[in-house]
Amino acid sequence: MTLHKTIGLVSSDVYLEHVSPGGHPERPERLCAIIRYLKERGSWNHLKHIPPVAATIDHILAVHTQQHIDRVLNVCERGDGLLDEGDTFAVPKSFQVALLASGGVIDAIDAVLGKKVDSAFCAVRPPGHHAERDRAMGFCLFNNVAIGARYAQQEHDLARVAILDWDVHHGNGTQHIFDQDPSVYYISLHQYPFYPGTGAREERGIGKGEGFTLNFPLPAGTGETRYLQAFTEEIVPTLESFNPGLLLISAGFDAHKDDPLGGMKLTKDSYAKMTDLVKDIAPVVSALEGGYNLEALARCTDSHLNALSRKSSNRLD
Ligand SMILES: [Zn+2]
Repeated sequence: MTLHKTIGLVSSDVYLEHVSPGGHPERPERLCAIIRYLKERGSWNHLKHIPPVAATIDHILAVHTQQHIDRVLNVCERGDGLLDEGDTFAVPKSFQVALLASGGVIDAIDAVLGKKVDSAFCAVRPPGHHAERDRAMGFCLFNNVAIGARYAQQEHDLARVAILDWDVHHGNGTQHIFDQDPSVYYISLHQYPFYPGTGAREERGIGKGEGFTLNFPLPAGTGETRYLQAFTEEIVPTLESFNPGLLLISAGFDAHKDDPLGGMKLTKDSYAKMTDLVKDIAPVVSALEGGYNLEALARCTDSHLNALSRKSSNRLD
């Protein structure tokens, strides 16, 4: 009798080679903390490890402009560091690492949709959800989850993909990339007002995409009860009626109460509860975004993975 679902994990030491300037919160130690904790807890041995392959330029071009790709490459090659107004860094290796981060999400999608695993988590960096079509931003070079969504549509013929973003920051990049597209539903819960400033409730999509964006701007100090209310009252019914072939989660863990950047009050158990509420709606691929308290990040990731791996008590399958 199988009690646990099979969970894929994308990880690679290459993700540590995107090296941050001193004191930057988005640092390689984040991934080291996750992997160390998963090994300590024993979860590591139950995961099916998916070695990532770099995304191709064509995969990136499904979401970003050639000018954006060229600019990122040039800054990386020059090795002089900054892509945004000061908070998005790049070193010579960063271009390849960023391709591997997007590629990791693609490989996880192949594994899940190819039924090699039930769901998958991508312990990748740099993160992606702030990266706009034509702009790096907020520690993000390429929008990993957006690239994954387009890949799933193009290579796996999925008519509808949903993206759930519970990072404490609004995923401006992901929203803008898909805001005119009714085939990709973007849902975000985030601290508001806060960086990057977008994500008001009235932002519901544009043109044909109107009604396919759903934002939950939440005040600083919001805790689990309000998050779970949003899930049960709106997010779960919305996802069920949209009926996506794949659910991508922009899994930032910076809404944890101990996060140094976020101001929310979630606990590691909150991430398990949110995961439980959506994990049976469609196959899940989640990708790391933020999360800057190393211990909280590791515990939240483990909690999220454990929830993904548990069979739902109310479903027979
Ligand atoms: Zn964040």
